[in-house]
Amino acid sequence: MNSISLQTPIVYLKGVGPNRAETLQSELGIHTYQDLINLFPNRYIDKTQYYKINELQRNSADVQVVGKIVHLKSVEQKKGKRLVATFVDETGQMELVWFRGQKWIRENIKLNIPYVVFGRTNFFNGTFSMPHPDMELQSDHEKGIQIAMQPIYPSTEKLSNKGISNKVINKLMQQLFIETKGHFRETLSEPLLKELHLLPKSKAMFNIHFPKSTELLAKAQFRLKFEELFYVQLQLISKKLLRKQKIKGYNFDKVGTIFNEFYNNHLPFELTNAQKRVIKEIRTDLGSNAQMNRLLQGDVGSGKTIVALMTMLLAIDNGFQACLMAPTEILANQHFNGIKELLKGVGIEIALLTGSVKKSARKVIHEQLESGELHILVGTHALLEDKVQFKNLGLAIIDEQHRFGVAQRSKLWHKNEMPPHILVMTATPIPRTLAMSLYGDLDISVIDELPPGRKPIKTVHRYDANRLKVFAFIREEIKKGRQVYIVYPLIQESEALDYKDLMDGYASISRDFPLPDYQISIVHGQLKAEDKDYEMERFVAGKTQIMVATTVIEVGVNVPNASVMIIESAERFGLSQLHQLRGRVGRGADQSFCILMTGHKLSAEAKTRLETMVSTNDGFEIAEVDLKLRGPGDLMGTQQSGVLNLKIADIVIDNDILKAARYHVLQLLKEDPSLQKDENHVIRYTYAQLIKHKNIWNYIS
Ligand code: ADP
Ligand code: MG
Repeated sequence: MNSISLQTPIVYLKGVGPNRAETLQSELGIHTYQDLINLFPNRYIDKTQYYKINELQRNSADVQVVGKIVHLKSVEQKKGKRLVATFVDETGQMELVWFRGQKWIRENIKLNIPYVVFGRTNFFNGTFSMPHPDMELQSDHEKGIQIAMQPIYPSTEKLSNKGISNKVINKLMQQLFIETKGHFRETLSEPLLKELHLLPKSKAMFNIHFPKSTELLAKAQFRLKFEELFYVQLQLISKKLLRKQKIKGYNFDKVGTIFNEFYNNHLPFELTNAQKRVIKEIRTDLGSNAQMNRLLQGDVGSGKTIVALMTMLLAIDNGFQACLMAPTEILANQHFNGIKELLKGVGIEIALLTGSVKKSARKVIHEQLESGELHILVGTHALLEDKVQFKNLGLAIIDEQHRFGVAQRSKLWHKNEMPPHILVMTATPIPRTLAMSLYGDLDISVIDELPPGRKPIKTVHRYDANRLKVFAFIREEIKKGRQVYIVYPLIQESEALDYKDLMDGYASISRDFPLPDYQISIVHGQLKAEDKDYEMERFVAGKTQIMVATTVIEVGVNVPNASVMIIESAERFGLSQLHQLRGRVGRGADQSFCILMTGHKLSAEAKTRLETMVSTNDGFEIAEVDLKLRGPGDLMGTQQSGVLNLKIADIVIDNDILKAARYHVLQLLKEDPSLQKDENHVIRYTYAQLIKHKNIWNYIS
């Protein structure tokens, strides 16, 4: 056992004291010894490599050089003096420079004796210089403990201001290893350590902080990343298993007359194989006596709606009601109209409930829901209201679920005695490994195939200067009978400005595309719902050829005859948003186009986004790039950021380790579901500790 508990407050560590303890707490969240050993370096500087002076590169980087000081002089400068040493090796010379502590250096430095100097170089006037180098006599350097890599810990401005430099953290870490004798309780089981050739915990901890060689560092990193991801997956997967055991669901054991009637006589097209597979997966869930919690991922236009509809029919066949919730009124409207059309003559009662439904009509809907007269309710978040009570809700579907928070998802759970089955759909594809972590407690289905006959959308990037050519192109497409979207950014912080951009754009488009030859619709957030709907409906019905809009049309809207999507100020959109917008076209049989308009000034990241859009139509590929650009937190939007609070692993880079961790957790739970075996005692104990000390990552519950 350790001589000192790792739960000891950090203030007791020699060298910390109340002031530093407070700073460590507020800046790095370090409260205990445990927190400090779990502060992992961001990066390491290779100390095995020595540079010759003629090998130095002009981009400043940390380097280590062996040489001698041959000359030392003071140089006057605007304020005070600096001390400059001429440092040479057999290939050339450079300068070492001090602005502070010059007296000490003068008295202690030895000329013409080999030193190892380490620091960041600058290049100026043809010479390299290194300000305030770390230096050591070569003879001492060879005697000391050789760490191969120098760890660099996370830092903040306040930490440096308070004198808690990297060196100080390093010292504290050493002190911690002295007080704990460097002995840390093992956290993984013997069989896992053996099978994966993992370093024991204590050795891994030592080498992550004081790497003896690059090889040992790599092994330490692997072991600790694996461990972290292993316990994340253990938490997610156990939760899911527990839910399946505990949360009984309504059993939909019949595939009845309505489903079959629709499938045989009303389905307007042949389902794709992917759609068929997904419907089968859902049916298995629905007949399993457990509550379904399934995420349906499918690129824009992959045909999720029909899957949703057929799932609802299964509910109705089994005597239940179903609801479908969409993030915007436009989308809810469209789902309502689309589904009503598809169900014509099937004898299903369906209603629409949104914020703009009148009170009297609402009352009727409420009553019909409670009496069971209504089978399907489509709507916005209005259907979450407490007043909305069902006679027997069996299935709730959420479209574009990333627009909703977790709290909203859970509200639907309480709309019946037992929670209804839940299907959440998203067209913002998430790389599979990330999905596993974020939605590890959901089952996942993927529609990875588009309906046949779709022509891939052609995407190009054009500068604002080429606007006239773009307008000419629009004219030609309209002449062929096509319709066009022109989308302007809408970012909350500068709503007024965006509105002006949109209105200016609208004015100029109206000049270039005048009445009566051209009809233009405009839709934006400041319109009243009924005006929005009116404009939208005119476009859907083909009465207008151009739809000028903000991103309100981003999700879901389906107008197959629209074949051109122009995105203004495209550099201001995120990748997933661009992809969503582009997905509004390419829904019919005609060749579709997406034109990304920008000014000439573009950041490197914006260029990458535009290039990605031009080079691929594959939402999963785009999601991968997005993830690399933005990191997992941002990718999921504010509602779900901070979800992945990993200490050492990186969900993008450590993809393979994540897969391995997941595999071993599944294996483990299959063989020993309640972790009763002796060999797994250590895992059970560690997991309990993690939960007790809230040291486990902050996940969606
Ligand atoms: P999304 O997955 O983006 O919600 P939708 O469900 O809106 O996609 O479907 C896009 C379009 O594709 C709709 O017009 C729909 O009728 C059509 N569609 C869906 N499935 C098929 C299929 N199997 N064959 C042909 N067209 C289909
Ligand atoms: Mg959709």
